[in-house]
Amino acid sequence: MKVTDHIKQANGKTLFSFEIVPPQKGQNIQDLYNNVDPLMEFKPPFIDVTTSREEYVYIKKENGLLEQKMTRMRPGTVGICAALKYKYDVDAIPHVLCGGFTKEETEYVLVDCHYLGLDNIMALRGDAMKHESFFIPTEGGNRYASDLVAQIRELNEGKYLHNIIETNNKPDFCIGVAGYPEKHLEAPSMETDLRRLKEKVDAGADYVVTQMFFDNAKYFEFVEKAKSIGITVPIIPGIKPVAVKRHQQILPQIFRLDMPEDLISAIESCKDNKQVREVGIEWAIQQSKELIANGAPVVHFYSMGKSDNIKKIAKEVF
Ligand code: FAD
Repeated sequence: MKVTDHIKQANGKTLFSFEIVPPQKGQNIQDLYNNVDPLMEFKPPFIDVTTSREEYVYIKKENGLLEQKMTRMRPGTVGICAALKYKYDVDAIPHVLCGGFTKEETEYVLVDCHYLGLDNIMALRGDAMKHESFFIPTEGGNRYASDLVAQIRELNEGKYLHNIIETNNKPDFCIGVAGYPEKHLEAPSMETDLRRLKEKVDAGADYVVTQMFFDNAKYFEFVEKAKSIGITVPIIPGIKPVAVKRHQQILPQIFRLDMPEDLISAIESCKDNKQVREVGIEWAIQQSKELIANGAPVVHFYSMGKSDNIKKIAKEVF
């Protein structure tokens, strides 16, 4: 079922959902199930599964020297979605990226998703690769998420690339895109970034999931500004509970977001990461309660592969 239909069906009740990351290749999918299992009692209508780009890794050769190889460390997104769908009877949403894929390869992924009965696609540009200082579009691929949204919408209309037979099988994907309450790091201003978001919605996006934020005021303001420029699709807040001390440096650095002073001092006063985890859980509980009280359609959690803290939050909130 489509995310937008889940939201309609909930009739104003806030839903619970979360995002997971595929295991590194060579690891067992059971580890992933072990983290999904404890969250299923909160009845998520959908679960997102991220996709990662290829990256350079260093392989040790027989002579002891290191060799650089390009590889995808966490493949399996679509397979995991199918496994989740049929194991848990939940809608699983693959993240599909522009970066690293030609349009042709993207179409193959979308065809697989359609055959497997996946109804939703999260359409993203992807970040620059670690060795690049800015995002370089893949030759023959989509440049911006709005181009990918347009490709998916065209497929929904039955327009396959270079098709030689008449289409009798159109998918009907519901399309999610990313939104940034504190603006995307490359955008010159909040206003420009919002206009870009509007372009994604105009291209066919059905809902937005936000980047993590720690100050709900940023989300509320973002939703208001989005509405004021005609973005009427649901905007789902994304929440990440802080889990280790280092998060107070790396999360603002990676995602260019502000951490409220109260949260920073609470983290600073922790003796160890066990205490930081408790602070993160409590902060996320308060954030979630306020988001629900203000009518957020869904509260979507970034689990980063660990479910114990999300479970504690969900127990208090849902
Ligand atoms: P876009 O919407 O294409 O925007 C990228 C930048 O380009 C923005 O600054 C925008 O303002 C600008 N822009 C857009 N259109 C134009 C235009 N026409 N002209 C000029 N500038 C333009 N990354 C992964 O690798 N894997 C994942 O699974 C993943 N999941 C995510 C899930 C969520 C909910 C979020 C919020 C992010 C996720 N990301 C993921 C990260 C995402 O790929 C990065 O944030 C990426 O840098 C931007 O992606 P986007 O889809 O927002 O890009």
